[in-house]
This record gives sequence, structure tokens and C-alpha cells, in this order.
Amino acid sequence: MENKGNIVLIKNGILVTPDKVFEGDLLVIGETIAKVDDSILLSDEDKAFATLIDAKGKYVLPGGIDVHTHFNLDIGVAVAQDDFYTGTVAAAMGGTTTIVDHPGFGPKGCSIFHQIDTYHEYAKENAVIDYSFHGVLQHLDEKIIADIPKLADQGITSMKAYMTYDFMFSDDMLLTVLRTTKEAGVLIAIHAEDDSKIHSLRHKFLLQGKKEAIYHAKSRPVTVESDAIKKVIALSHKANNAPVYIVHLSTKEGLLAIKKAKEAGQNIIAETCPQYLLLDESLYTLPDHQGLKYIMSPPLRTKENQNALWEGLFDQTLSVIATDHCPFDFKLKKKLAGDDFSKCPGGVAGVEARVPLIFSKGVLEQKMSLQCFARVMAENPAKIMGLYPKKGVISKGSDADIIILDPEQKVTISQKMLHENVDYTPYEGINVMGWPVLTMVRGSIIVKDSAFIGKKGYGKFIKRKKALIGADNR
Ligand code: MN
Ligand code: MN
Repeated sequence: MENKGNIVLIKNGILVTPDKVFEGDLLVIGETIAKVDDSILLSDEDKAFATLIDAKGKYVLPGGIDVHTHFNLDIGVAVAQDDFYTGTVAAAMGGTTTIVDHPGFGPKGCSIFHQIDTYHEYAKENAVIDYSFHGVLQHLDEKIIADIPKLADQGITSMKAYMTYDFMFSDDMLLTVLRTTKEAGVLIAIHAEDDSKIHSLRHKFLLQGKKEAIYHAKSRPVTVESDAIKKVIALSHKANNAPVYIVHLSTKEGLLAIKKAKEAGQNIIAETCPQYLLLDESLYTLPDHQGLKYIMSPPLRTKENQNALWEGLFDQTLSVIATDHCPFDFKLKKKLAGDDFSKCPGGVAGVEARVPLIFSKGVLEQKMSLQCFARVMAENPAKIMGLYPKKGVISKGSDADIIILDPEQKVTISQKMLHENVDYTPYEGINVMGWPVLTMVRGSIIVKDSAFIGKKGYGKFIKRKKALIGADNR
């Protein structure tokens, strides 16, 4: 959609920019932010066809960027239920304007381009907000190594490797990959869990007939994550300080290891998710198999870990809050699991509630400032994933990806009010103050007064650059 004649003036909002938070105006011309100032006056001519929005008492923020979603994810026994249409509508309704999706695995032995080609097809006529993909690594040979820089040239400047699951990478493979990505200026994202420990614990519990949901958590204790993270840190060091992005950090122990590595000058970046900040492992013991709702990897942890993660956001050991959005119906989880947690598809929804949850539980409960909020929800993910300054910031010349959040909106989160294509939300019943009432993507208002008015297929693939932070060889 060409938007040349588009003029939108947002008046009197509380603007959150990297330098300051202040009451002022924001002018959008076409798809970009044309001006940010204390007061902006339009000429009579422009006034005639400009859209005027009064944002008095509301926050004007950079659109949320969720760099960890799994739309269309095929895990063999099931497919994650949000596709690039339903998932991005939900994202938009919750104030997210760009996602970077983690593709699932392709056929065994497929090229590094296979899943990206597949995902372009999934997204292109469906996404309502802008998007990109991470690459996915599932085996390693000379061809893959040669293709990593080629994929980066297509705008896929981050790639993920797993230390567990079917296509897990051994330490040697990780080391080779890290040397390659360091050279290519590519960021490697890692799902860090110690596979052999998971398997031995799981095997032990299943033999003992311990199959309830809580044993999902018990088979993935804190050290499963923290030991894997320590290993990654050592490998990155060995690979000439190759930048690494740790996804979905859930533990204090892992956080402390990352903090230490950062202090030693290592290039370790970390993400956490709302579920690890807000939910705890007691949920696994809910009656009537409800614990299955919270099966995800890594599992939910104790309150002590939650507190540490909040502190990690505050002191900037953690850079990003993303969701790992990967919904399966509770009905389906129960059906596939039966009485056995190990058969339950893992993952929860979160793309829609991320912004309001963190605004309410983070900013309003004084665990982070407004600017820290904008940083971890938009600016840092944009910088780390090569989207900045086109995305992630309220600044002249950036894409007009903007949300207006009404801090007076009192909302009780429920599955019924959300737009995610799933029969439950892990955040059911949680009260929040503040919800995005307007979402704009490249100058186009796609959510107005909390109603979706965007168009299927409006979202564009964003060809990402090499990272601004994290990749020190930019
Ligand atoms: Mn993962
Ligand atoms: Mn994931």
C-alpha cells in the first residue's frame, strides 16, 4: 500500500524517546515519523486532510518488537495454532508492530534456505504487521557453512541452534558455527538446555511412574539451563568472542553466568519472556491436568528466579523481553499427553499480552522505568536483530511504528478478550492497568479504539542488517 498523502498528527501524548519522556506532538508523513516536538502546528492546507489524534494522558511508544514467535510451527504431532494472519492480528491488538519468527525444522538434510523460503510463503499474504525470520540450523556441513553468509545477504542476519531436541548441536558443531557466524557478522541464537541431563531425569521419572506435569519442571531443573549457558559462554570465548543470543532465559543461575561473562567483556546477549517473569512452577500442580497448560521449555521456575530476572532487566544484564509465542489448545495438550507430561506439546501464547503485561507489572509496579520498558520491548530487539533505526524508536526518519497506550484502561486478561487462536491463555485472570488503544505500522493505523482495522497482507518482510549491538564486527 502506497501511503504518500498520509499525514497523521498525534497531539499532547506522553512521548517515550531514548533521550527523554515528555508531553508533546508527533507528526507522521507517509510511512515515516517526520517530526517529534513539544508542539507541532500544521499549515491550513495540511490540516484539511490530516488525521488528528488527541493522545492527552496517554503514552506514545515505539511499537513493540517481539523477536521470538513461532507462527505455523510444525512439531510433527501438532502445528502451533497461530499463523501469520491470526498471530500478527493478535500481536497488533496488543501493541506489537514487528515480529521476528523462529521457524521450525524442515526436512532432514534440507538447505539453510528451505525454511526461509517456506516461511516467506506463510507470511507474505497474511501478515498484518512487519516481520522477519531467524534462520534455523539443523545440521552442519560445508554447504551450510558456505551458505550462512548468503542467507545473511538475504536479510536473515541471525540464526538459531538448539542444544536439545531432534536436531541438536553438539559442542563441536556449535564451536564451528560460532567461528563461522563471528566471521560473517551473524548473530547466533541458542536454545541452551543440557540434553543429556533432561533425558536421564525424564527417563528416571517415567520409570518411576512420575508423569504429572510437575515432572516436566523437575526433569529440567535450573542446572539444565545454567550448565548449558556456561558451556555456550566458554564456546563463544573460544570462538574469538563470537556474539551469542541466549533465548528465553529462565534462571537466576544462568543470569549470573551471563552477567559475569558480560563483565569480562564477552558478547553474550540475553532475552527473557513474560512467563518467566510472571508465572511460577506452582502452576504445574493445578488440578484437572491444568498443569499441562504451562508445559514449555525451559519450564516455569520459582519466585526467586523471577525476582532475579526483573533485576537483570533493571541492571541491563538482560536486553530483551520476547514471548516464545507457541500456542496449542489445552484440549489438544490433554489429548496428546494423556497422563504423561513427556507427550505434551510445549509452548504457550503470549504475543498479544506482552506489552500490557510488562507495562503494568514492570512500569506501574516500579520494576522498570518507561524508558527501560521501551528499550527492552522495542529498541534493544531492533538493535540486536538489525532493524534499528528503521524500527524500535520514536525518532525522525524512523518508520511510523507507534502505539498509543491508555494507562487508565483496566483489563482483566482472559482468553475471551484476546485474539490468539487458542482455547486458553496462561495469563487468565491477571489484572492489568493500561492497554494499547491504537497501533500504527508504517503510518497506517491498524488498530483503532482497540478494534482491528488493518489489512491482511499489509505487513512487509524487513530485510535485516547486521546487528548494531552484539555483533562487534559491524
Ligand atoms: Mn526454545
Ligand atoms: Mn522458541
